Amino acid sequence: LNAQLTSGHLAIVGGGLSGLLTAWRVAELNPNVRITVYEAKSEVAGDHTWSFNDTDVSSELYEWLTPFIRYNWPRYDVRFPKRKRTLEIGYCSGDSQSLCAAIVDLRKSGRIEVHTNRRVELSDIDADAVLDARGYQPREDEYPGWQKFVGHTIRTKIPHGINHPVIMDATVEQVDGYRFVYLLPFSETDLLVEDTYFSDTPNLSTNEIGGRIADYIAEKGWSDHEVIRTEQGVLPMMMATDRNDDSAQIGLRGGFAVAATGFTVPHAVELADHIAKTIAKTGVNAAPKAVADFRRMHLRRERYARLLNRMFFRAADPAKRYCVLQRFYGFKPALIRRFYRNGLSPAQKLRIVIGKPPVPVTKALYNFSEKAFIARERKRNESP
Ligand SMILES: Cc1cc2nc3c(=O)[nH]c(=O)nc-3n(C[C@H](O)[C@H](O)[C@H](O)COP(=O)(O)OP(=O)(O)OC[C@H]3O[C@@H](n4cnc5c(N)ncnc54)[C@H](O)[C@@H]3O)c2cc1C
Repeated sequence: LNAQLTSGHLAIVGGGLSGLLTAWRVAELNPNVRITVYEAKSEVAGDHTWSFNDTDVSSELYEWLTPFIRYNWPRYDVRFPKRKRTLEIGYCSGDSQSLCAAIVDLRKSGRIEVHTNRRVELSDIDADAVLDARGYQPREDEYPGWQKFVGHTIRTKIPHGINHPVIMDATVEQVDGYRFVYLLPFSETDLLVEDTYFSDTPNLSTNEIGGRIADYIAEKGWSDHEVIRTEQGVLPMMMATDRNDDSAQIGLRGGFAVAATGFTVPHAVELADHIAKTIAKTGVNAAPKAVADFRRMHLRRERYARLLNRMFFRAADPAKRYCVLQRFYGFKPALIRRFYRNGLSPAQKLRIVIGKPPVPVTKALYNFSEKAFIARERKRNESP
């Protein structure tokens, strides 16, 4: 009976991060399921580096992800005008190459069929279930602030001296909201230098930001270098949502980003596992419902992070937003880890918002209710 249930055909549209992680996990836990991935571009996985805290995922899933993880560091730094700190929290990254390598055997054996150069409509596909992993698309029922960035990976002539990530160097001039530089050392001489903004607008001025990256590099004494790769991104950081759909959209399209960071890896991994286990128990047809159920849980779980984003983007003075993070990174590492995993107790949630608030109380109260916030945003969007 089980073998019968776990056969069938699962189609995934979009061969990016969430599409491939889902194909991989489903194939691993369901050897009889036929899996087809359709990708519009000539290659799957794009050209990305994806990072996350190692405690963002459970130990079972971290172990499964091992072939994907290309770099890991035992600690990271944060730097603010009044706080410099090293946190003993593991940080890791995978990239497009390691994601492709992780599924290469499954592709060779035909367990995962990949069709590239195939821009498809969901309705074109004939399968027992279709998952939509086509990447981010703005929606009218989602209200985000924005994380935007430009990154240059440089190769220095002499070692750059950065031994572990600096996930926020906010000692830089504050421009366009909260600005910080993110440093990821891939080797003694290869370093990603990313200029990042938590901003009210999604507009990205690549040239201007490129100039600021060059200034930062010069100031740190890494001028003797070549740029070996560039990247840029604009990611939603959800402030409010009244999304209530049963769609089988996964990844960013499905609304599965971590509101506090804009990152996708932790939820993509967890959802891939949930889909794979549901299929193993109930069959391929159950995959879309598994996604919809997971979304309802996810939206509830992220409610607190959305509240903090409303405080951050709408209550805090843009030039002083760094004070919010400066205060947050003064908490104990255990609390910081739990925050990023959405695992805070009610008392810990309170602990973060009480005390000397870095945002004006009247504005904080005004933005407290998600429902009222959405009503105001709707009205604003509707007015000519
Ligand atoms: C530069 C950059 C750096 C990032 N860094 C991190 C990070 O460090 N950590 C983190 O967690 N997140 C990071 N993110 C955010 C997020 O993880 C990525 O955007 C992630 O790739 C989103 O995964 P996804 O599967 O939703 O979409 P994508 O990975 O964008 O995949 C969507 C895929 O669907 C394909 N597609 C679209 N339309 C069709 C169609 N009609 N038919 C077939 N295929 C189609 C696209 O070509 C694409 O390959 C980063 C984003 C960017 C842009």
